[in-house]
Amino acid sequence: MSKNEAKTIENKINIMDVPVDIITMEEAVSKVMGFFESAECHTVYTPNPEIIMAAQKDKALMKALYRASLIVPDGIGVVLASRLLKGPNLPERVAGFDLVQDLFARMASTDHTVYFLGGAPGVTEEAAAAMGNKYKGLKIVGTDHGYFKEEEEGAVIQRIQEAKPDLLLVGLGAPKQEKWIEKNRGILPAKVCIGVGGSFDVMAGKVKRAPVAFQKLGLEWFYRLITQPTRAKRMLQLPVFAWEVLKLSAKNKDK
Ligand code: UDP
Repeated sequence: MSKNEAKTIENKINIMDVPVDIITMEEAVSKVMGFFESAECHTVYTPNPEIIMAAQKDKALMKALYRASLIVPDGIGVVLASRLLKGPNLPERVAGFDLVQDLFARMASTDHTVYFLGGAPGVTEEAAAAMGNKYKGLKIVGTDHGYFKEEEEGAVIQRIQEAKPDLLLVGLGAPKQEKWIEKNRGILPAKVCIGVGGSFDVMAGKVKRAPVAFQKLGLEWFYRLITQPTRAKRMLQLPVFAWEVLKLSAKNKDK
């Protein structure tokens, strides 16, 4: 597929070779609920511009994204890119954290179960306890922190296999979580695996999300930059992404 334009394939838009679903939050939640009824393991990722840039150089990450059942735009930059590139636009930002919250609300009145994998020791359990309190009826069948050694991975996978969750949330940070899910999806019992980044930190109250005003203005990335300055280095990819999109957009106009 050419990188020169945003081609649409089956309700997806190609943003620098990453096929992003043209979907609203509500539709995304329904789609994931539908995945619970299927026999295979579906993967869901929520790339922002940094991840799309990383995928340009990281074949394993691009493969994981390419093979996903659902890709939603976590970053406002991805939505803006779709407006600049040729083809249909992405209707809205679908933040991974919000997608999971809406899913929990729906799952709470069903028998579908969830397992939390990732985050620092202690934080994962706190996140699970907080979500269990917030969404009465949500069935959390296990937790594991994300700082296991290579030789401990087998035991982690075995615990997930025994718990047989319908939904596995993997919060190991990008791109580790995408590659981990892709490597193990064949042996994971879950119907859906979602890469959730630092969501467990937010669920546990360790990290605050940007105020709604920032979110509505599309400035959550800016809030994260000023509150978590350690992210500055990786955020240098944002202007590079914007520049690449502008170049592609100019090329399209010349055609
Ligand atoms: N993390 C983990 N194992 C690791 C590295 C990171 O469980 O080996 C967790 C970390 O504790 C944090 C999350 O992964 O909860 C990464 O958060 P960040 O906000 O950096 O991720 P992003 O949302 O940017 O992918």
